[in-house]
Amino acid sequence: MELWRELGVALAVSLWAPYSGNWLSGLILGGLLFALVLLRLQQSRRIFIRSVAKGRRPDLEKAWEATWRRMLQQAGLTPDHCQLVVYNGVESKKHQDFRGLCCGYGRNQAILVSSQTLQGPYALGVLAHEIAHAKGQHVLKNQALLAGAYLFGVTMLFALGSHWDNFEVLAVAVPYFLGMESLRSQLQKHFEFVADRYSEDRYPGQLRRALNQYTDPGERWFDSHPSNQRRIRRLAQ
Ligand SMILES: [Zn+2]
Repeated sequence: MELWRELGVALAVSLWAPYSGNWLSGLILGGLLFALVLLRLQQSRRIFIRSVAKGRRPDLEKAWEATWRRMLQQAGLTPDHCQLVVYNGVESKKHQDFRGLCCGYGRNQAILVSSQTLQGPYALGVLAHEIAHAKGQHVLKNQALLAGAYLFGVTMLFALGSHWDNFEVLAVAVPYFLGMESLRSQLQKHFEFVADRYSEDRYPGQLRRALNQYTDPGERWFDSHPSNQRRIRRLAQ
């Protein structure tokens, strides 16, 4: 889906830039996209928590309070930085980052986990993986790259648009935005390996066994996660 978004931005910019023909319009449009990405990041924790509000499990959150506090402490965080949100249900198929999700930024983060995961045998390993994302501010870094790439790219493409026609701008815009997605995907995959390692060091074997349970979704160049096979191989090293 993100690929289509980038292609859409590339197309819109190449249609528009030659008519507007100045970098200032690009700066304004790029600034708008920059602000939109940051606004979405700022809202993400609230949106994700709201999406599971109906099946929220405060009883499990309470039962895990002490463990959660201890795990955060080990990572140099506190429950004020990062809230544990447990929702009722089976493991989400939507998020490939199986069974857990880290959202938000700074002191405004939350980790969402399903009751099934939390009551299963790999709970600590999965939670530790997500805590590593929170500790490393991985969501913020990824979104900052996206926002920065919009601001810089759109400004530059509009500047080029004063000399070039639509097709020439498109010929630069498409590789620029797809290249940025590829870079973002590499960064996300790197963060997955970092989080996997953090979990493995504290709860050896848990994540590997959890990954082994699921069918491997494989891996494409623009995916956010490495294949299960690659993650398991890295964990075994
Ligand atoms: Zn992850």
